[in-house]
Amino acid sequence: MIKSIGHFIGGARVGGTSGRTGDIFNPATGEKSGTVALASAAELNKAVELAQAAWPAWAATPPLRRARVITRFREIAEARKDELAKLIVDEHGKVMSDALGSIQRGLEVVEFASGIPHLLRGDYTEQVGPAIDSYSTRQALGVCAGITPFNFPAMVPLWMFPLAIACGNAFILKPSERDPSAPMLLAEIMKAAGLPDGILSVVNGDKVAVDAILNHPGIAAVSFVGSTPIAHYVYSTGCAAGKRVQALGGAKNHMVVLPDADLEMATDALVGAAYGSAGERCMAVSVAVAVGDKVADSLVKSLKPKLERIKVGPGADPQAEMGPLVTKQHYEKVKDYIDTGVTEGAELVIDGRGLKLQGYEGGYFMGPSLFDRVTKSMRIYKEEIFGPVLSVVRAKDYEQAVALVNEHEYGNGTAIFTRDGDAARDFASRINIGMVGINVPIPVPVAYHSFGGWKRSLFGDHGTHGMEGVRFYTRLKTVTSRWPTGIRSGVDLSFPMMG
Ligand code: NAD
Repeated sequence: MIKSIGHFIGGARVGGTSGRTGDIFNPATGEKSGTVALASAAELNKAVELAQAAWPAWAATPPLRRARVITRFREIAEARKDELAKLIVDEHGKVMSDALGSIQRGLEVVEFASGIPHLLRGDYTEQVGPAIDSYSTRQALGVCAGITPFNFPAMVPLWMFPLAIACGNAFILKPSERDPSAPMLLAEIMKAAGLPDGILSVVNGDKVAVDAILNHPGIAAVSFVGSTPIAHYVYSTGCAAGKRVQALGGAKNHMVVLPDADLEMATDALVGAAYGSAGERCMAVSVAVAVGDKVADSLVKSLKPKLERIKVGPGADPQAEMGPLVTKQHYEKVKDYIDTGVTEGAELVIDGRGLKLQGYEGGYFMGPSLFDRVTKSMRIYKEEIFGPVLSVVRAKDYEQAVALVNEHEYGNGTAIFTRDGDAARDFASRINIGMVGINVPIPVPVAYHSFGGWKRSLFGDHGTHGMEGVRFYTRLKTVTSRWPTGIRSGVDLSFPMMG
């Protein structure tokens, strides 16, 4: 029997009432495994109404007590992580180790959020003026919403709701309609951890639910993670409606390899960073910039046998290193890009198209593909492919490599591989990218630092998690106070001076 996913509203799973549903597939077999309710604006409104009623009491709950709920949530989620990972494998297709790793990174943000009493501690200055004291505090915004992509159905929501809730907000999550089961389980775990009903809702849906979020006057802030065109739409529409918005978008991450790099280390790093999770990571390296033909020739030569050894298989197979792509439609999109690369004149060194796995003929499996001699005018260089496809671009020198990275429209992550400390320092300083790795291919910041790109990879002023997350989900208030027993100045119409 196929599963039917509704929403999580008011502390319980509820069926959809809009009459619209989307299909969920198992990417390893291509079979339909369930349906998900696609919310109407009325269903979203109901979740907002409950959140608005519940959040003032939650915001007034001492931070230490809020932190205890978050800690319990982490403990239960940790104990149920295999179950969560299996839901991700079944709906997203990624291999078990990747699913578990992403849950682990998400739970690190939860661990960070459980430190909320300390993170919200304000400043106090005595005697800013005669008998006048001043303090600053950060207060919850009210009802926040999060709209998340298919590629990390647990980790990206975990970047958002635990911290937002720890800060004293209510949160409405609109996950990707491709893999909604893990977010639904996360909401149930929050309930089991003792979160009051109405503080966290999961409203499944598509553009209708997103538009309802963007236009609802009761929602104060929206966090979005997904592709750049939708990120831009969410940012501009949400801001026009007077909301605080952070919208993280797509990427084209370059890894620059200098002639003095440890090439074996760089090649191994490239294989993991380009093909892990079948390239469906916003921090995946999709461009290797080899400085000099000698470096390019050696990289391609040593990449080839390593790529041929990658074991592609269903995520549930413990031997599999790379699972299928998420949907048939996405598979076709990636395949079209490879066709385009060939037409554009790039050299296809390894062709992942046409891979068929026995027993999984209906699955969306694609082998690793490697292009050499890609140039900056090609579409496969300019656009995000989001699949297991790596492009090698040959730069004549370091300056040309830096210019390539800086001129690209995306600015999520980048890395440099070198033994030259001067070059690495110069790169980290001059590169117009939000997250930079030095001999680290996927420089995803840990939970207590913040994640966020530059240029068209992030619209808004705040990254996610770490202190940026705390700032995004709270607003600053500064109180200046004086008591009648203090010094009185009498009526005074001059400009208020303290010092
Ligand atoms: P997507 O933009 O298609 O969908 C993201 C969310 O937006 C989903 O919840 C979806 O339902 C909703 N949505 C889709 N179309 C919409 C529309 N027309 N109007 C309103 N809402 C809409 O992204 P995806 O395919 O789910 O995820 C892959 C993308 O996410 C890639 O571009 C990847 O780089 C990006 N991503 C970025 C980060 C980051 O941190 N910068 C992290 C993960 C993924």
